[in-house]
Amino acid sequence: MSTAYISHQICHLHDTGQGHPENASRLSAIEDKLLISGLSDFLGNVEAPEVTQDQLLRVHSAEYLANLEAMMPQKGYAKLDPDTIVSPDTMKAAKRAAGAVVSAVDQVMGNQFRNAFCSVRPPGHHAESARAMGFCVFNNLAVGAAHALETYGLEKIAIVDFDVHQGNGTEDIFIGNDKVLYCSIFQHPFFPFALPPKNTANVISIPLDATAKSTEFRTAINDHWLPALESFQPEIIFISAGFDAHRDDDMSHVSLVDDDFKWVTEQIVRIADASASGRIVSVLEGGYELNSLARCVEMHLRVLMKL
Ligand SMILES: [Zn+2]
Repeated sequence: MSTAYISHQICHLHDTGQGHPENASRLSAIEDKLLISGLSDFLGNVEAPEVTQDQLLRVHSAEYLANLEAMMPQKGYAKLDPDTIVSPDTMKAAKRAAGAVVSAVDQVMGNQFRNAFCSVRPPGHHAESARAMGFCVFNNLAVGAAHALETYGLEKIAIVDFDVHQGNGTEDIFIGNDKVLYCSIFQHPFFPFALPPKNTANVISIPLDATAKSTEFRTAINDHWLPALESFQPEIIFISAGFDAHRDDDMSHVSLVDDDFKWVTEQIVRIADASASGRIVSVLEGGYELNSLARCVEMHLRVLMKL
C-alpha cells in the first residue's frame, strides 16, 4: 500500500449545531464513497493520535491555546467567531485532526507510505497563530509542516492550497519563512477578507474572479504555481485539499468540475515525484456539497495511489 488514510472516529463528534455546513456528514460521505468504490481496501488505515501541546506550540501561541481551553463548553455550544461553533467534544476532535497531520509526516518521512491523506475535521487553514476562524480551530496542516521542519530538519517544504477560500491562517503562520513556499488560489474578493492577495518571496497568491471556471483555474496554476514549485524543488509537499470550488458547492461561485481536482492533483504528484521522492501529505479542508466532495476525494486519492 502506498497511501495512508489517516482519520479518527472522534472527528465525527465535533458538533457544530443544526444546519451548519461543516458537519460530520462530510466525513461519512467520504467514508461511504471509499467503501462502495472498494478503494478503502487499498488504503493503509491509520488512527490519528492526539497532537501534543508542544507540537501545537510550534504554530499557536500559548495564550491562544489557554483561551481555547477556557472557551470550550461543558454542554451545548460556544462560538469562537460567528462561524466557528464548538461543543464539548470539539477539543478532542481538533487534537486528532492536528495529530493526524503530524502522524502523516511521520508515516511519509519514515517511508511507511509514499503519501497520506488526512480525512479530518474541524478543518484548519483559516486558523491563525492566535485566532480561530472560519470553522477552523487548529491549523492542522501548519502543525504538521512545523513538525516536518523541526523533527526531520527539512529545509524546503511546499504547501499548495486549492480550497476556494484564502488560507489566511497558513499565510499568517509561514509568511517570511524561507523554508516554506505557500501557493494558494482562491476566489477574491471573498471570505475571509483577511489579507490582500500578494506575492512575496515565499507566498504565491492567485486571486480568481467569482466567474472563474476550469480554464482560468488551470491557466493560473500553469503560469504561477508550477514554475515556482519546479524551481523550489520541495522535499515534501503538503496539500490543503478543499473541494468547495466545485460548481455543485454553493459555498462559493467559482465553478470547477471533478476533473479539475484530478488534474491539479496530477500536477502536484508529478512535482513531488521529481524532487521529493513522491512525499505528499494531503489534508482535508473545505467541501460542503456531499456528492461532489465524496467523488472528488475519491479521485484525489486515486491519483495519489497511482490507480
Ligand atoms: Zn473553503
